[in-house]
Amino acid sequence: MSTGMVAAAYIIAGVLFILSLGGLSHQETSRRGNLFGMVGMAIAIIATVASEQVSGLGIIIAMMLVGGTIGAIVASRVEMTQMPQLVAIMHSFVGLAAVLVGFSSYLDPTSHLQGAEKTIHEVEIYLGVLIGAVTFTGSVIAFGKLQGVIMSKPLLLPARHWLNLAGGLVCIWLGALFVGADSAAAGMIPLIIMTLIAFAFGVHMVMAIGGADMPVVISMLNSYSGWAAAAAGFMLSNDLLIVTGALVGSSGAILSYIMCRAMNRKFINVIMGGFGTTTGGGVDAEAGEVVATSADEVAEMLRNADEVIIVPGYGMAVAHAQHPVSDMTEKLRAKGINVRFAIHPVAGRMPGHMNVLLAEAKVPYDIVMEMDEINEDFPNTDVVLVIGANDIVNPSAQEDPNSPIAGMPVLEVWKAKTAVVSKRSMATGYAGVDNPLFYRDNTRMLFGDAKDSVDHIVKQLVD
Ligand code: NDP
Repeated sequence: MSTGMVAAAYIIAGVLFILSLGGLSHQETSRRGNLFGMVGMAIAIIATVASEQVSGLGIIIAMMLVGGTIGAIVASRVEMTQMPQLVAIMHSFVGLAAVLVGFSSYLDPTSHLQGAEKTIHEVEIYLGVLIGAVTFTGSVIAFGKLQGVIMSKPLLLPARHWLNLAGGLVCIWLGALFVGADSAAAGMIPLIIMTLIAFAFGVHMVMAIGGADMPVVISMLNSYSGWAAAAAGFMLSNDLLIVTGALVGSSGAILSYIMCRAMNRKFINVIMGGFGTTTGGGVDAEAGEVVATSADEVAEMLRNADEVIIVPGYGMAVAHAQHPVSDMTEKLRAKGINVRFAIHPVAGRMPGHMNVLLAEAKVPYDIVMEMDEINEDFPNTDVVLVIGANDIVNPSAQEDPNSPIAGMPVLEVWKAKTAVVSKRSMATGYAGVDNPLFYRDNTRMLFGDAKDSVDHIVKQLVD
């Protein structure tokens, strides 16, 4: 394929990626957005592989088949609840790829750049390897935390900020040595040492972040992986990789900002880590009787209600309860009851988690409301049904300044006439914080697996 055709294909792919991002911002258009992304990526891969610059087509196709097969098998087996881990490990591959591209680009015997061009190329390599290495180990640790292989509690080394600062300064100094090196052999030493420091920094950065800050970390690593890809694009002089990397990098950064705002956290505090270290937020002061209820009673409450809000959380995903929840919604709406869903921005384990599950279960989009749209309506609600959610409905976020989640906006379900909480036990949620909601006078606990409970309610509603 000629250079001109490749450039044209890259422009088409770039436009498709932008349309894809636009499509993914609304549920109604997200399928189309995905399709644009897939077509764009197919065009990008074909144009790159078929371009004149590429040699060794056989080995590229063989590697694509191996990688593609592994990816397809893993992605088809992964549960919706394990999606964030999958995303984290994918980011780690992008980071590792940037490191490898950096090293191979530096050692490329065919490159004969001189003067300013050589310096610029070396800066690209240095930054690409640095960002890639941080992304790689940071994402591996994020994977471990989400998978439960590594404890989600933050690891706080003494003087950790000084350690990070010292690492950063050493990397700048090594960068000067690298760019000033008079031979590739001499440049390799600072490059390797910097890579090791960046690996350690990635581990340290994510180990220090815990509890409910993980969603921000994932989207931040998403952003890093984009910048790592853009840096690889500069090293390889590949325009599309630069554009795509910049799109991923900036959209990840915007998402991180939106999530920080949703959790009322400052981005810099998240990165500095340490969230979830205080053990405040206990329920002792308020702890009283927990009133348990039954599915039959809840069905009766729902039947007699005019206004119902359902708050889904991570437990609905674990229990695969979205289909019975959809059935229940249909039955209640058929009885003339106004049923709506309240979606917290960090409900579940990834952005948009609940929206995806509800869309899959064919819950109409127009009754699925964002937190800001519905939070004021709880006082006029007869029954709120909290299904497998915990942190996102925790009143201590507003009422207890010592709570580890103090300041995080939450759905004010306790303001409804009755709040029913469906979960299996009194266990805490992801942030490990006790929830005083369970002890409120107007709260009823519906213990048991969410799917079993909702199935039972649905049966009771048939008449
Ligand atoms: P939580 O993790 O706070 O609570 C989920 C609750 O579901 C648990 O308390 C658990 O209680 C219950 N549960 C688990 N399995 C079942 C089941 N089979 N049936 C019924 N209930 C069940 O979830 P939320 O959605 O309320 O909050 C999300 C949390 O995750 C926040 O802290 C958020 O910051 C964090 N997070 C969010 C990400 C995102 O991007 N959305 C990414 C990573 C973390 P029990 O064991 O008693 O059943």
